[in-house]
Amino acid sequence: MRKNLLAEPITIINVGYRSTNFWVVSAGRSRLLVDVGWPGSMGTMRANLKRMDVPLNEIRYTLATHFHIDHAGLAQDFKRAGVPLLVIDVQVEAIPVMKTWIKPADNYTEITLEGNTTISCAGSRALLESIGILGEILHTPGHSEDSVSLLLDDGSVFTGDLTQPDHVGLEDPSVVAASWRLLWERGARRVYPGHGPIRPMDPTLGE
Ligand SMILES: [Zn+2]
Repeated sequence: MRKNLLAEPITIINVGYRSTNFWVVSAGRSRLLVDVGWPGSMGTMRANLKRMDVPLNEIRYTLATHFHIDHAGLAQDFKRAGVPLLVIDVQVEAIPVMKTWIKPADNYTEITLEGNTTISCAGSRALLESIGILGEILHTPGHSEDSVSLLLDDGSVFTGDLTQPDHVGLEDPSVVAASWRLLWERGARRVYPGHGPIRPMDPTLGE
């Protein structure tokens, strides 16, 4: 595990709603929002951030674990409010597909490719370090091809909808298991999922 004496301690809070977790990872007042709200719900998101004492202008980036509507619905709204969207290169193709699942009543603001910060997984550690967060972003397909996980050096991992192996339906179980195996091998020990409670990482998930 890496140590950086200059790093602020990391705090994690949930500003989620409608059965979905939206995690604010903070290094002091430098913050990253992991998963980015339901479409058309910026009012609820702003209210939750305020209630949890997270000034919107302290959020340095948003990151969607994958581009499904309950995880990336407000990405463009955040961009309009001055918070850039961090996109991993394996996610770029999934962004325009998202709108095909949206109904007009959802009030979705379509995500454009302009103004995004697009990086590779290999470049993620340096970017995160630039905002005081020690960790990396890993490609963890299974639930969807564009799924990524944020793994902090303290063992906390944000997995979005990466499927529990006993819930695998249409997914390829070997792809799901390989993603869990990768996370365990890289040091993941506490899972912060996109839905449901925080839980300890189960090393048998990758078997
Ligand atoms: Zn999903």
